[in-house]
Amino acid sequence: MTNQANGVRAYKQYIDGAWVGSDRLFDDLDPYRATVVARVPAGTRADAARAVDAAAAAFPAWADLPPAEKQVLFLRAADIVEKRAAEITALLAAETGCASGFAGFQILTAVRLLRQASNWAYLPAGEVIRSDIPGTFALALRRPLGVVAGISPWNGAQVLAWRTVVNPLAFGNTVVLKPSEEAPVTAGLLVAEIMEEAGFPPGVLNVVTHAPGEAVPIADEFFDRPEVRCINFTGSSATGRILAERAGRALKRCVLELGGYNPLIVLADADLDYAVEAAAFAAFFHSGQICMSARKVLVERPVYDVFVDRLAARAQTLRSGDPADPGTLIGPLITPAALDRVARDVDDAVAAGAKVLVGGTADGPCYRPTILADVPAGARIHSEETFGPVLIAQPVSDADEAVAIANSTRYGLSAGIITSDNQRGFALGRRIDAGVVHVNDQTVADEPQLPLGGVKDSGWGRSGPHSVADFTELQWITTREGTGGYPI
Ligand code: ADP
Repeated sequence: MTNQANGVRAYKQYIDGAWVGSDRLFDDLDPYRATVVARVPAGTRADAARAVDAAAAAFPAWADLPPAEKQVLFLRAADIVEKRAAEITALLAAETGCASGFAGFQILTAVRLLRQASNWAYLPAGEVIRSDIPGTFALALRRPLGVVAGISPWNGAQVLAWRTVVNPLAFGNTVVLKPSEEAPVTAGLLVAEIMEEAGFPPGVLNVVTHAPGEAVPIADEFFDRPEVRCINFTGSSATGRILAERAGRALKRCVLELGGYNPLIVLADADLDYAVEAAAFAAFFHSGQICMSARKVLVERPVYDVFVDRLAARAQTLRSGDPADPGTLIGPLITPAALDRVARDVDDAVAAGAKVLVGGTADGPCYRPTILADVPAGARIHSEETFGPVLIAQPVSDADEAVAIANSTRYGLSAGIITSDNQRGFALGRRIDAGVVHVNDQTVADEPQLPLGGVKDSGWGRSGPHSVADFTELQWITTREGTGGYPI
C-alpha cells in the first residue's frame, strides 16, 4: 500500500478497497522539527468521484449486512488500534505535534468507540405506532441515509477521524473521508489501513487526501453528487458556516461539530487546589488546540487573586518541547501560521491594555502556557477562540454574572463549573447555553456513549449512539389487512 523513498513513506489513497497512487504527492510536515513525515497524494475531484462511486456501490450490501457480522469487524478494528497504539502515538507526535498524554486519550477513546459502536446495529430500528385505520400496522423504521462524506480536522486527528467514520458506518451508511491536509495519515489513511486489516468490505470506507489549499474541489464533488446524503464535519465555525450554506443549497443534511469559546466558572466555595489543576488541564492540554479547551476562567472575586496566582505558578511548571518525549506536556502548534495567529491575538490584546500574568511568548514552535487578565472587550481574544494555550482570567461578582458572561458569546460547546456545592452547580449548569456542561469539573471530556455537540455557532448534531438521529431517516411504512373504506 505504500513505498519508502529516502526513509519517508509515500502513501496512497484508499478507494474501493484498493490503494490508489497519484501523480502528485505533497509533503506532510512534522510541526516540531519541520521535517517531512510522509509523502501524501494530492488527490483530485476525480479521486473523490471514484470514492463516491465506490461508497454508493458498497452501500446496499453494507446496510443489509447482519448486525453480528458488522460487530465482528468493529471489534477487530478496536483490537488493531490497541495493538498498534505505540505506532499511532509516534505518528500523532510526528504529524500533529501531539504529546503522549493526549495521544493516549485519543487511542483509548477510539478503542472504546469502536467497541461500543459494534453494538449499535442492534439498537432499536424504529417503533411501532398505532394507526386509526382498522387492520393497518404502522412503523417508523430507521434507515441509513446512503453515502456520508466525512471532513475531519487535524487537532484530535485519531479520535475525531474515528468518530467521523464510525458513527455513520455503525448505522449502515458508507463513508468517504477527507482528512485535514495537516494530518492526512493520522486523520485518514491510518484509519483506512486499520479498517482494511479488520476486514471491512471494499468501498465501505474510502479515504481521499488533498494538498494544502485544495479541499474545495473534493467538497464540490460531495455537494454535487446525489448519492452523498450528508456532510459530517468537525472543524472551525468559519468553515462549518461555508459547508452549511452549501448543504442548504444542495438540500443535504450536515452534522457540524465546530469551535467553542468555553467558559470555566470557579465559585468562591471551590476547592482551589482542585480548581487550579482543572483549569490548567482545560486550558493547556494539547496546547489548547481542542475545541473544548477552556478559553476564559470566570472567578468569583473573593478567590480571584489567590486563584490566578496559583494557576500562573502551575502554568510555569508545564514543560513544552518535543512531543515525542514522554515528559513533554505542551507540544508545538500545528503550523508556523497557527503560532503566528496565537501570538498576534495575544500581542493585540496586550497592546489594547491586557496584562500578561504568565507566558505570552513563543518557545520555538511551541507557545508558552499563557494567562491574560484585564483583556478589554474590544480585543479579538475577549470573545473569539484563539486555538492555542491562552486563557483569559476575569473576576465576577457572583454566579449570575458568570452565567451571563458565559452565555454572551456566539458559541456554545462546553462549559465547566467548579464548586463544592453540586446542587447549586447543577442549577447553574442548566442555565448555560452549551451542548455540554460539567459540574465540579472542567471543559475537556469525551466519552463515546455521550452526546458531544454544540449549540449556536458551535454547530449541531450529536456524536455517539444519539447520532442515530443524524445518520438515519425515518420511513413511515404501513401494511393493511382490510380493503375499502375510501370516501370516493
Ligand atoms: P483549521 O482552520 O483549524 O484547519 P478548518 O475548519 O479549516 O480548521 O479545517 C477542518 C477541515 O475542513 C479540514 O479537513 C480542511 O481541509 C477542511 N476544509 C477547510 N476549508 C474547506 C472548504 N472550503 N470546503 C471543504 N472543506 C474545507
